[in-house]
Amino acid sequence: MDTQEAYKELGLEPGASDAQIKATWRRLVAAWHPDRNSAADAGRRMQSINKAYQHIRQLRDGDGDAEAAPGPETGPGTPPHATHSRTVRLTLEEAILGCTRTLRGHFSHTCSDCHGKGQRVLAQACATCRGSGAVHKAALFGWMWNEEACADCGGDGRQRAPCEACTGSGECAVAYRRQVRFPAGVRAGHVLSLPTSRHGALEIGLELQVEIEPHAFFTLDEDSVLRCEMPVNGYAWMAGRWVDVPTPEGMQQMRLSRDALVYRLRGQGFPAVPRGPRGDYLVKVLPVFPTQEDPEQEALLDQLIARSSTVASADASQPLGQWQRQMKRRKAAKPA
Ligand SMILES: [Zn+2]
Ligand SMILES: [Zn+2]
Repeated sequence: MDTQEAYKELGLEPGASDAQIKATWRRLVAAWHPDRNSAADAGRRMQSINKAYQHIRQLRDGDGDAEAAPGPETGPGTPPHATHSRTVRLTLEEAILGCTRTLRGHFSHTCSDCHGKGQRVLAQACATCRGSGAVHKAALFGWMWNEEACADCGGDGRQRAPCEACTGSGECAVAYRRQVRFPAGVRAGHVLSLPTSRHGALEIGLELQVEIEPHAFFTLDEDSVLRCEMPVNGYAWMAGRWVDVPTPEGMQQMRLSRDALVYRLRGQGFPAVPRGPRGDYLVKVLPVFPTQEDPEQEALLDQLIARSSTVASADASQPLGQWQRQMKRRKAAKPA
């Protein structure tokens, strides 16, 4: 991708500010992320958007000469370079806490021995045309002979043999295995570029596109706030008991309060920026009460209400209490 194409991909002019570029890239990633966009080419668009963004970033940061990014055919002395792009799916916990992954894969590239032709040229003469480069073909009912270029040697009269390096396919596959550290706070759509490393005869740079697996109960919103909704025993909630709540690190005890449905666990959420301090984690509890009380529970609830009736009874100093006393007096005054 050249620089002009990169700006075009993002719909920007080369004079755009860094902030504009970043904002546009974020907007496009949000719009084209395959998790949110069901269009068939969403994944491909995402890749080109990320490639364009990375190209511009590299150009502006000055790290690595993006214009001169060498392809598989480089000059003598330097081993062939290539960049291999792939996606890596992380769990939300891995994205929150950071993780190390061993990535294995195959990178296929044009065979450097035969330059993709799949065969090599030998010194001896082509067996088909005996070195002449041409074959005779009968034409006009055998009255005349036409000369045609030999198909087996392409007309140069030299014998071919399948390339041993690529077993005649023209492509070589290089296996790679690399340990990659993903920083805490990496998000879906992020692209990690790893420096090249030697694999076989190639220097391979890895370009990793991060995907985050959807989680069963944690959600991460646009503002990097981690949330969870959790049903709790309604009576435990009323009574202010301790319950176990899931956190990215595992289960943790949390004290319920009947005044609160949302609880903020400070510093236990998602890092606002990669490698940055962790944000807050919001747990919303959903108190669950039995839809139908069994008789024993009904009796217990009645007891509970009877015992706490003094608290809720009308105070004589309050308007309701005064009104109740007035009504009593009126009733008493009325002749039956
Ligand atoms: Zn031939
Ligand atoms: Zn080959």
